[in-house]
Amino acid sequence: MKKPSYICCSFCGRTERDVEIIPGPEANICVDCVKHAHELISAAEKEAAGAKTPPLPPVPAPKEIKAFLDQYVIGHDEVKKVLSVAVHNHYRRLESAQTAKKKGRAAKSAGEFDDVEIEKSNILLIGPTGCGKTLLATVLTQAGYVGEDVENLVRYLLQNADGNVEFAQRGIIYVDEIDKIASKTDNVSITRDVGGEGVQQTLLKIIEGTVCRIPPKGGRKHPDQEYIEVDTSNILFICGGAFVGLDKIVQERSGRSVIGFGEKGEEGKSGGVDSEINPRDVRPEDLMRFGLIPEFTGRLPVITTMKDLSEEDLVRILTEPKNSLVKQYRKLLSMDGVELSFETDALKALAKSALERKTGARGLRAEMEKLMTDVMYEAPGGSKGMKVNVTPAMIKEKLG
Ligand code: ADP
Repeated sequence: MKKPSYICCSFCGRTERDVEIIPGPEANICVDCVKHAHELISAAEKEAAGAKTPPLPPVPAPKEIKAFLDQYVIGHDEVKKVLSVAVHNHYRRLESAQTAKKKGRAAKSAGEFDDVEIEKSNILLIGPTGCGKTLLATVLTQAGYVGEDVENLVRYLLQNADGNVEFAQRGIIYVDEIDKIASKTDNVSITRDVGGEGVQQTLLKIIEGTVCRIPPKGGRKHPDQEYIEVDTSNILFICGGAFVGLDKIVQERSGRSVIGFGEKGEEGKSGGVDSEINPRDVRPEDLMRFGLIPEFTGRLPVITTMKDLSEEDLVRILTEPKNSLVKQYRKLLSMDGVELSFETDALKALAKSALERKTGARGLRAEMEKLMTDVMYEAPGGSKGMKVNVTPAMIKEKLG
């Protein structure tokens, strides 16, 4: 009796009885072999893409980075210098790793170059609210973070790098309100704040360098999903926080040591709390007393403090940056043929009002909105060539 003939897959040999076959003129293939071949090709393509690290752009000099920051951020000269140097070194570190790779000496980590390992210079920015910490960091990076899931920050960075893993892996992340994850071990209560420590441990891992698995569409993690892997070892971290009360800790410590050594600073700052901490005065142990775990402070080698903005700074913030509020309102009104001007004393009064509210420069926007609502309502559509001059009297009337 003649055996029935079945078409079989030319690759795995299974027949149409077991699997769906796609017949061809010379050979046949089953759907499973098609899937398998597709997986092999995608994996090879991914590997090839990974091997081709996009070249780094020329590393800007610290002075160039500072000049860029100057366009947007008023004051804080020292801090801008520190940041510019750290960002410059970050790129030099990446560059050295790339050179090593080209020479065929796979560096164990970025920064290892001619047996010298350049360490990451993550930065801690300490400063009062509204003084420009977020602004400074976001001029340098788009990826900011305030939230509950620390892995989100890597996800944001990847999104901002348009999904390009290589770019994300050499990026800069700003972690805002880092002081909020301090554990309150100095509390009267003996129960330790494990929550704060837990978040610090997770963040520490990411700062030290780990492979984060990011869901591709940014959704929730799902066991069957394929993840995008992002190695955080070469990402630079800038952490910022107001650290309310740190000044007292620094003063208490240095006060004690002053007494201990039997001498006093020339200015003899004895009474009251000095709200402006000198960056050189903040030591890792102060941050530990504040509630940061030692490993964490160890990973933030560059500490810099920012001062409260003065009235003069606030006036400059209103007028000087590329996107200053005064420039924005003038532009908007000029489009309706209205010329807007501010008397210097009016700007000073606006600044004073924001200072009194202790909201730093953040308050300026709200003050300005209150002041300008009527003008913005009345002026457009009015007579052409109209002029509006903001006087101190107007500020008093609108802002009280
Ligand atoms: P922080 O993070 O220190 O609380 P932000 O950076 O969020 O403060 O500042 C709030 C807003 O105030 C900024 O978006 C910016 O418009 C303005 N601002 C703050 N500081 C400065 C500054 N030094 N120069 C220019 N604008 C500033």
